[in-house]
Amino acid sequence: MTYKTVTLKRGKEDSLQRFHPWVFSGAIAAADDTIEEGDLVTVYAHDGTLIGNGHSQIGSIAVRMLTFDATAIDEAFFEHRLNDAYRMRQALGLQREDNNAFRLVHGEGDFLPGLVVDIYGHTAVMQAHSPGMHFARDIIAKALTHLPGGVVRNVYYKSETTLPYKAHLDPMNDYIIGSMETDEALENGLRFHVDWLKGQKTGFFVDQRENRRLLEHYSKGRRVLNMFCYTGGFSVYALRGGAQLVHSVDSSAKAVRLTDDNVALNFAPEDGRHKSFAEDAFKFLDNMEKEAYDLIILDPPAFAKHKSALRNALIGYRRLNAKALEKMPHGSILFTFSCSQAVNKEQFRLAVFSAAAQTRRKVRILHQLTQPADHPINIYHPEGEYLKGLVLYVE
Ligand code: SAH
Repeated sequence: MTYKTVTLKRGKEDSLQRFHPWVFSGAIAAADDTIEEGDLVTVYAHDGTLIGNGHSQIGSIAVRMLTFDATAIDEAFFEHRLNDAYRMRQALGLQREDNNAFRLVHGEGDFLPGLVVDIYGHTAVMQAHSPGMHFARDIIAKALTHLPGGVVRNVYYKSETTLPYKAHLDPMNDYIIGSMETDEALENGLRFHVDWLKGQKTGFFVDQRENRRLLEHYSKGRRVLNMFCYTGGFSVYALRGGAQLVHSVDSSAKAVRLTDDNVALNFAPEDGRHKSFAEDAFKFLDNMEKEAYDLIILDPPAFAKHKSALRNALIGYRRLNAKALEKMPHGSILFTFSCSQAVNKEQFRLAVFSAAAQTRRKVRILHQLTQPADHPINIYHPEGEYLKGLVLYVE
């Protein structure tokens, strides 16, 4: 494999020497003019010192670094990195009799920028966010099947929505290895249908696993509203936790069906505590009766996909939280989240603070939540911290 070369402007090697994995296009002094999207490149400092190898990309991030030395990006490289990722998940104890859904590769957090892999039983669902990872998909898929214990038997590749659309890359959604075995996964002893063929992202949000477990703990005897329910993760935990009733809301009829299916998978039909609604969240909150629920979950989609949308996103979080807070009874609990990477912890907290102040509620923070350990944050890439949550006690 030949590597094209990229030479940085003077001083632009600093962040890379601190292992930050992105080269911005403005940092480049010179580059091979034959470089194409997804090519393997070797990056040099202005004085010719080798920095490392990465995948090239057209856009403001011009190179995603994979190594900070001369190590080749080949089959052995991917086997090595995937093994490291797997060993870490084993240390976390996520592969158990009662749990077989977890994230194996979290991009930069696993030193594999541009790659996401979630495991559901024996199926790996893989998403490429960069052209380089798209081109490497076959060797990555093969390396996945070489993981210890034969954990991965099927690899479903899903890149239609994740690849930069301008790259004209012929994205695909299909099995690279194996086929459908089962669509059922286990999380903390609860069963879920995971629709990686048609669902959002890899089909399930494994990043809320720990937060759902915390919610279960608070659910006993409460009337629970799970807003933006998607697959009904929080709803199923609330039911197991002994909620008096659980109402799930999502604007997508398909999501509501998924939630109903997952409730049915775990609870007897005569249980009768669960109801779901295909409705817009803001409308539902406007129309709902005051004090109808004493535990509310707000887990909306990312309001800010980019920094440019930050201001509107913060207004959105304030409005949403205010609508919930103003109708919550004395002694109720709010689980509120933001998964926008562009919104940081402090900004999100400020938006929720504004909602509390606006509605003049007495609010205390019980827990500050984040993403679980299988979504690790590379210390050199703090941008990888994206999930933020607050558990509030409302009086
Ligand atoms: N809480 C879920 C993940 C939520 S993903 C979990 O634990 O898995 C966000 C969901 O919000 C999606 O299912 C999407 O269909 C839904 N959604 C987006 N905009 C909405 C709106 N305005 N009202 C209600 N639901 C909405």
